[in-house]
This record gives sequence, C-alpha cells and structure tokens, in this order.
Amino acid sequence: MAEVLVYVDHVDGAVRKPTLELLTLARRIGEPVAVALGPGAGDTAAVLAEHGAVRVLTAEAPEFADYLVVPKVDALQAAYEAVTPAAVLVPSSAEAKEIAARLAVRVGSGIITDAIDLESGDEGPVATQSVFAAAFTTRSRITRGTPVITVKPNSAPVEPAPAAGAVEPLAVTFGAAATGTKVVSRTPRESSGRPELTEAAIVVSGGRGVNGSENFSVIEALADSLGAAVGASRAAVDAGWYPHSHQVGQTGKSVSPQLYIASGISGAIQHRAGMQTSKTIVAINKDAEAPIFDLVDYGVVGDLFQVVPQLTEEITTR
Ligand code: FAD
Repeated sequence: MAEVLVYVDHVDGAVRKPTLELLTLARRIGEPVAVALGPGAGDTAAVLAEHGAVRVLTAEAPEFADYLVVPKVDALQAAYEAVTPAAVLVPSSAEAKEIAARLAVRVGSGIITDAIDLESGDEGPVATQSVFAAAFTTRSRITRGTPVITVKPNSAPVEPAPAAGAVEPLAVTFGAAATGTKVVSRTPRESSGRPELTEAAIVVSGGRGVNGSENFSVIEALADSLGAAVGASRAAVDAGWYPHSHQVGQTGKSVSPQLYIASGISGAIQHRAGMQTSKTIVAINKDAEAPIFDLVDYGVVGDLFQVVPQLTEEITTR
C-alpha cells in the first residue's frame, strides 16, 4: 500500500488534534507515515501510533526551534525523498501552510489548501474545498507531481487505529537558507483556558450587537458553559471590544466547528467566509430579516442579552 506523509503539528511533544484528524484522512488513501520535528518530536510517537501511523520519522535538531520555517521545509523534503509518498498531508495552520507551499515549489508539485474533506480516487486523492466565501464547494485533484494538501481543522473525526508507529530518526541536511531568519524571542499568549479558536468543536461568537467589551462576558459565559472558544465579528474587533486573534471571517480566522453560535452578528459575506462550513449554525439576532438567518440550522429572533444568559443557565443546570 502507498505511504502518505503526514506533517505533525505538536507543542513539545503534545500532538494537536488537527494532526490526528489528518491521520484519519491519510488512512483513506494509504498508510500514514508521520513526520515530527523539533523539541519533543520523539514524544509524539505513542499517540501517532494509536491513530494509525505505521512509521514516525523524527528529527529534533535545535534549528527547528531557533529559526523560522525553512529548517522544517528541509526536513519535510528529506522525508519526502526518503519515502516517495503518494501524497503529503499538512494541517492548515499558518506555519504548516507555509511549509507545505515551500515543499510543493521545491518538489514541483501542485498544492491544494484548506481542504475540508479527502477521499481516494483512481487518479489520486480528491480534495473538497469550500471556496468564494463558501458560495461553492469544489472537488479537485492535483495533476502535477505528488499531491500536497493542507486540511482545515475539524474536517475529519479522530479515530483510534492502532499501528506499529516505529520511530525512525530522519537524517536532515540543512541548506544555506535554513538559518537565514533567527527567532529572537517568543512570547507565549496568555491562556484563557478555552480551546484554540480554529480547533474548537464549538465556537460562540459575538458581533456589533454585543455593544461593548464589557458585554462580551455574556458571550464568554455561554462559551464556558459549552467548553467552547470565543469568536468575534470584525465590527466587534474593530471597535476594540475583543482581540483581533479571535476575529472570524475573510480577514480573520476560518473555523469549521461542530457547532457555531453567532450572537448579534448580521451575517455579512466576509463573516460567512470564515464560518459557513460549520456543521451546525445557530444565530441569535433581534432582526428577523438579518442575512445570517439565511444560512442557519436554528435561529432565535430575540435580544441576545435575554436569550444568551437564559441559554447559559439552562446548559449550566443540566
Ligand atoms: P453588523 O453588521 O452591524 O450587525 C450587527 C447585528 O447585531 C445586526 O444584525 C443587529 O440586528 C444585531 N443586534 C444588535 N443588537 C442586538 C441585540 N441586543 N441582540 C441580538 N441582536 C442584536 N467581517 C467579519 O466578521 N470578519 C471578517 O473577517 C471581515 N473581513 C472583511 C474584509 C473586508 C475586505 C471587508 C470590506 C469587510 C470585512 N468584514 C469582516 C466586515 C463585514 O463586512 C461586516 O461589516 C461585519 O461582519 C459586520 O459585523 P457584525 O455582523 O457584528 O455587525
């Protein structure tokens, strides 16, 4: 069976959920071979094996942490040349997408970014994308080289599938460009304790209707009752009510959770572009004519300051 390279997104050995989702998709088209780089790479092997990795190629050189993406591209290319895979799958994080794009250029392959599904096909894997602000769904395959495909979080279930997961050190020779941009410092973001927006199974978002930063506590309370991440429309972000890192939409983050709750958000096309692939969409808006109601599964016409606290209380008492 053909092998499929899976680039592992991890933090000091803790594998992030989108990589486990990639392993589910990789098993549809071949045998997953994981590539884990940087500090703690070796610690990823057990969980990767539990989810279907037949081999785990690891490299922990200091260059991966000390410089920007090029050392990782060198390493992924080394894995590519060692394995000759049927496809390369990469999570759609900002860093991993850059790595995927650089790899595709180096090996002369086409690339598909932000796939939301993947299936095997007679002439290679077929990827589904949601394009033009989610107005169309396309199915496409790469016709040049080995497919390099980045996949959005929450596009596939995490499925246990025990495999050998044999750890093999990956020999990497860094090119001259690898040490071209040094990381001078890293400042960890203050953690809210909530899940990461792009990976969360549930997202609760607030818009201009929230009417002030202090009122976002209403949105946060609902999010916390559901174990959800908090999102915001650009109007709310531009008003300074919530940080830009939480903006959902065309110029913010793209999310695809199981459940998306939009409160006080009108549903402008630029907002829809970032959330329309959510599996179930709920909106709370006092204007029954708001465009958001055109795309929801469930809509509540009402004042969010009445509806959201009631919802939070109901969920909390269950
Ligand atoms: P509004 O459109 O003002 O809607 C507020 C809604 O809240 C209304 O429907 C109103 O009925 C409702 N409301 C008010 N009070 C209450 C209440 N008490 N209870 C219930 N409902 C209430 N936008 C994004 O979100 N993300 C992006 O990434 C983004 N990128 C953009 C890129 C470009 C190039 C451009 C031009 C625009 C972009 N926008 C983006 C902006 C977008 O066009 C909209 O202006 C924005 O999404 C509106 O945000 P909103 O829905 O919160 O506000």
